[in-house]
This record gives sequence, C-alpha cells and structure tokens, in this order.
Amino acid sequence: MDNNDLGSDIDKVLVTEDQIKARLVELAEEIDKDYAGKDLLIVGVLKGAVMVMADLARALHSHVTMDWMAVSSYGSGTQSSGVVRILKDLDADLTGRHVLVVEDIIDSGLTLSWLVSNLGSRGPASVEICTMLRKPEAAKVSIDVKYVGFDVPNEFVIGYGLDYAEKYRNVPFVATLAEHVYK
Ligand code: 5GP
Ligand code: MG
Ligand code: MG
Repeated sequence: MDNNDLGSDIDKVLVTEDQIKARLVELAEEIDKDYAGKDLLIVGVLKGAVMVMADLARALHSHVTMDWMAVSSYGSGTQSSGVVRILKDLDADLTGRHVLVVEDIIDSGLTLSWLVSNLGSRGPASVEICTMLRKPEAAKVSIDVKYVGFDVPNEFVIGYGLDYAEKYRNVPFVATLAEHVYK
C-alpha cells in the first residue's frame, strides 16, 4: 500500500456509502412532501456539508435554491471551542423564505443553535435543520432537528465531508480513524 492510501488510516466504518445513499432517498422524500408547494432554500454549512448537500439536492424532486454559509467552531483539532464565527455569509435574503439548514454533524449543538437563532433573526418564514449525523450529546441541547440521517456514537468521525485537520473529507463513508493518525 502506498503512503498516500487512505485505507490504512481507517479504523471502523460506522456508516457505509450504501447506507448513506439509501437514507438520503428517504430524507428527500420527506422533504419533498413537507415542502410541497413551498419555495425552499437549502443552506449548506461549509465545508463539512458539501457532500450531503450535493447528494441530498440531487435526491429531491422539487425545485430548491441552494446557498452556502461558512462558520467556524472547531480549529484543526477534535474539541469544540464553543466560539462561532461567520467566515462566509449567505448571498440570499431570507425574508419570507422557508430555510432548511443542511449540516454534516451535530455534536454539542452549539454551532447549530447559534446558527438557527442567527438565521431566525433575518425574517424567514421558517428555519428547519437536516443533519446527516447526530451524536448523543446533541440530544441535550434544545434544538429541534427535523431530519436526521444517522445517530452515531460519541466518537470523532471523519468522511463524507467531515475532516480531521482538513483531511479525509473525500472518504465516501463515515468512519473512525486509526490511533496512529493522531500521533
Ligand atoms: P457542534 O457545535 O455541534 O459541537 O459541532 C459543530 C461542528 O463540529 C460540526 O459541524 C463539525 O464540523 C464539527 N464536528 C463535530 N463532531 C465532529 C466529528 O466527530 N468529526 C468531525 N470531523 N467534525 C466534527
Ligand atoms: Mg458542520
Ligand atoms: Mg472540521
């Protein structure tokens, strides 16, 4: 195996490519139904939500518009700082729009509860959340997450958009990393 091979860095696969694909079809069906006849703006939170946005958007059968926001809550490590900063704001005006925030993962829920109140202050018709992954800690925070892909154990995961020090975003499944990566 050459040095650049990702395989040797993976410990356990928690969610496979097939599981992600199948779950997105189910979520897209729900979203199509819930927003039927409404003007929906899906907002991807960069950079982690790139994969789920791209795949979810293509699984939908309704018209949507897509916009992006970049916020920072984690540095290059694995601990939440609790500090949220807007790195890139939306282009869209949210007045009267139905907004669905698409996230990669909810861990402490700090980022998202901040984001939901920030977007909520811009006069939208509604703000809901869709996340591919959710960790147990998130259950303790009082944010209403309408669409959840998978609940995952309280471990640091990578892949399907999620990074460790900006690497592993292109891994097509969700996994934990081998010990040697952190050394
Ligand atoms: P929260 O504010 O909910 O604790 O976490 C917000 C952000 O932290 C997520 O959007 C994600 O970017 C990052 N994050 C949380 N848990 C993990 C994890 O297990 N793996 C990776 N790669 N990022 C995580
Ligand atoms: Mg995220
Ligand atoms: Mg990250």
